[in-house]
Amino acid sequence: MILIAFYLLIACVFPDILINCDVISKKNKYIFAIFDNLTHGIIAFFSWIYYREAESHLHEIWSFSLIMEALLCAFFSCIIDIDHFICAKSFNIKTVLDYRQDLYGRPFLHNSALIPFIAILLFILLKWLKFMPKLLPKNYGILYLLCNAIEFLIPCLIIAMATHHIRDAIRRGLTFKFFLCRNFNLNNHQRHFFFLNTNPLPYFLYITLLIFIPPCLALSVKIYSFLFIQQSHLSGISQNSKYKPIHLI
Ligand SMILES: [Zn+2]
Repeated sequence: MILIAFYLLIACVFPDILINCDVISKKNKYIFAIFDNLTHGIIAFFSWIYYREAESHLHEIWSFSLIMEALLCAFFSCIIDIDHFICAKSFNIKTVLDYRQDLYGRPFLHNSALIPFIAILLFILLKWLKFMPKLLPKNYGILYLLCNAIEFLIPCLIIAMATHHIRDAIRRGLTFKFFLCRNFNLNNHQRHFFFLNTNPLPYFLYITLLIFIPPCLALSVKIYSFLFIQQSHLSGISQNSKYKPIHLI
């Protein structure tokens, strides 16, 4: 686990060393944007492995399935920046970068209030699906796959979004909006019900948060499992030998 934390630390710090040494030029906005987006992916990749190790005490760290999970987490973290294209209504990188300069606050997928909102929504959906086998016993297989997918998605999206937002926050701060508004420019910001944009995060806080989020999330899942999960998880059909019981949440 310490080794993975070390890899994560390198993944956080090394890109900034390259930027500060002018290996990756900030003057070339295209290269910088692509490099910055890839960095989000690399940080999410190691954060996911770090989380899984803390949560399951894996002995075989570099298994195929774990790497696939980590790659998916990295993909989610990279794809968040697509909201810049959606807000600018263009796939031209120059237009997007110019639009970003004028943007008040951050585009919608960079809203950190979305993280608990999505997690709670998926959690409610999961709880609801776990009652479904009583009503639809023939669909156990599909429900089982859906529950497993959601159980994976909840921590995966939390890590993908949190790591992305925290890295972006070094330059632009964290944004919390509790009211969805289509227009994010300065003239319309008063329409937001609640809007908070923090100052840029200090670098040491960025590193500390990224190092502590995966084990803290793993610990929360463990505490929840210990307090609320009994042996069987999918209501009523736990005896079905064809499927393993659903674990985690
Ligand atoms: Zn971003």
